[in-house]
Amino acid sequence: MSKEFIRIGGAREHNLKNLTLTIPRDKLVVITGLSGSGKSSLAFDTIYAEGQRKYVESLSAYARQFLDQMRKPDVDFIEGLSPAIAIEQRSSGSGPRSIIATTTEIYDYLRLLYAHVGQPHCPETGVPIVTQTTSDIVDKILALPPRSRVMVLAPVVRGQKGEFRDVVERLSREGFVRARVDGTLVELADGVRVRLDPKKDHTIEAVVDRLVIDEKIRVRLSDSVETALKWGEGVLLTLHQRPEDPSKTQGSKSKTDPATPHPQPSTSDTATWIETLHSNRNLSPATGKSYEPPTPKHFSFNAPAGACPVCHGLGQKMVFDEALVVPDPDKSLEQGAVLSWRRGGKRMVVYYKSILRAVAAHCNVSQETPYKDLPDDFKRILMRGSGEAEIEFNFWRAGKMSKITRPFEGVIPNLARLYHESESEFTRNRLKAFMSPQFCDACNGRRLKPEILAVTLGAGDPDPKSQIANPGPVHHGRLLAVGREGRRLFRHAAARRISGENRP
Ligand SMILES: [Zn+2]
Repeated sequence: MSKEFIRIGGAREHNLKNLTLTIPRDKLVVITGLSGSGKSSLAFDTIYAEGQRKYVESLSAYARQFLDQMRKPDVDFIEGLSPAIAIEQRSSGSGPRSIIATTTEIYDYLRLLYAHVGQPHCPETGVPIVTQTTSDIVDKILALPPRSRVMVLAPVVRGQKGEFRDVVERLSREGFVRARVDGTLVELADGVRVRLDPKKDHTIEAVVDRLVIDEKIRVRLSDSVETALKWGEGVLLTLHQRPEDPSKTQGSKSKTDPATPHPQPSTSDTATWIETLHSNRNLSPATGKSYEPPTPKHFSFNAPAGACPVCHGLGQKMVFDEALVVPDPDKSLEQGAVLSWRRGGKRMVVYYKSILRAVAAHCNVSQETPYKDLPDDFKRILMRGSGEAEIEFNFWRAGKMSKITRPFEGVIPNLARLYHESESEFTRNRLKAFMSPQFCDACNGRRLKPEILAVTLGAGDPDPKSQIANPGPVHHGRLLAVGREGRRLFRHAAARRISGENRP
């Protein structure tokens, strides 16, 4: 198969007259001709139709049964054709977020693929997000050395301010005998009051069970893990002590009797208890934060579930641009270097002139100096404001000079404020001329939430952080980079999509 050309032989679709031609690959090729000469018959009804048919043939028999039989176009042969996509001349349906991938619906497949086989990572640290079922958690706990002492805790309050009398009362009422409050174990006997400073952050964990690791505790441990996950809303903590210290292993006989008193770990020996966080949700083991399991809608920058909250999925924002505010840096302030302040009503222009005069005087710079030769410090104050530093302004008001001393807000914040406060469409449009698009600094133009951008494809990357630097369905090269495994998964996802499963 030729890698350089697509060869078409004997194309007779519609009004094509047994056309034979060669089209260079990996090039932008334009087909021109009179109306009715067969441009669309060649591009859509022959080349695209054959590419699509070959793609469908590559799917499993199971997937194919849900698709209409595709007619082979009337052509003798086409060589060198890859699976094809068509972007048709559609008048509607493209918004500011449309890209080729969304218009052609390829993005829908990518969303499905990432949602099903992507590996989520903690957006803050890059460690893989873990999900586990109740029995995974039970297996992990049972894998501790035999005779380890374990406590199963359900976090009910996590670093929140308040007295939480109702929480403690409810735990006691529900039969919990102990709780760990701010790291200290307390008994929840009747009438015992737990006093907490309402102005401070507190953490309260219910002690669901205390046991000793042994083959026979699986059923009881499963119940306890389930209870803890219910109270902890998907999260539980275990504290365990290794069995090395013989003084700590007494009481292991009581493992099947929850009522038997255990040696109470005092505050002094909590240091020897090892704490582990478990969750049946998507959880970052590094930060303890849990995330929603990704679904196709999370990979959509058109949906609030997935869109970057700062730019709402646009990937860029319009900001005032110094290069447009001062388009000709050869001009001095006197000559009107700050163009944005030379427009508008006459009174405003006079007002802005007096502000420029005051700021220049404050910084000891001449209004005659070309803008490009002004010191950077002055330019920064002029554009961004003087911060706390106060500047003396003199304004003519009602025929007399009045003096005001206050910080200077800066040209760009001034324009931004005008833009947001103005109700006049005319003013806003005038100000837009000084704005240029800039990548959203939250998502770097990648349009999705950080935790969604941290989902990667292709297992076995030694450094998940390197994927995070360059992840996500927005980056079109990724799919090629995942190789054979990725292509198999993609095909699998496409088949599921076509068969109607998990429609996003
Ligand atoms: Zn953004």
